[in-house]
Amino acid sequence: MAPSSPAAERPPAFVFVGGRLWLDFVNTDDARLGTRVDTIASFDRFVDWLAEARAVDPDRAVALQRRALEQPSGAAAALVEARRVRAALRALAERGRTDQGERAREGALAEINRVLGRSVGTRRVEALPDGGYVRSFVPVGDVFGGLVIPVVESAVDSLVHGELLRIHKCADRRCPRHFFDDSRSRTRRWCDMRECGNRAKAARHRRRG
Ligand SMILES: [Zn+2]
Repeated sequence: MAPSSPAAERPPAFVFVGGRLWLDFVNTDDARLGTRVDTIASFDRFVDWLAEARAVDPDRAVALQRRALEQPSGAAAALVEARRVRAALRALAERGRTDQGERAREGALAEINRVLGRSVGTRRVEALPDGGYVRSFVPVGDVFGGLVIPVVESAVDSLVHGELLRIHKCADRRCPRHFFDDSRSRTRRWCDMRECGNRAKAARHRRRG
């Protein structure tokens, strides 16, 4: 293996600020300091994200990454599929609540139903060591099949529960992240107070000074 630079050794960290699994997935198409960054730049990173998001359990994540070494083309296809779903869900997050969002809603619905219709497997609920529970999907046949099912089901939940109106983009113009506003006052503006919120506060201070 070629020696890698320190920057390449540490891939960009995942952020979980969306408040909904599918929005966290949309936010893997991220930006750092104004530059677009895909935090799932490889199948391995995609599986890392699924594990951190608790959409696959740690044992299965390791097994998937091992299988990816044996079947790189299957893994690559699964990543392409995941990014395709992500693009449709991003359009839904960006425009789904608007009057002009009909095409985004239709596109997302078609994509969601395509994924749900193609995936053969078993739905389960798993107990976590910390006392929580997660839904999981165990595919039959294709080991790389159905990886985005938990993501897609989370989007279905948002649609069914009429949550689109409470999904917003971060108020920082350069930040592409979306979140579900579950604040009581419904006035959340930033993806993360510690990042974009603080930056805005600092900018206001500078203008005043
Ligand atoms: Zn932000």
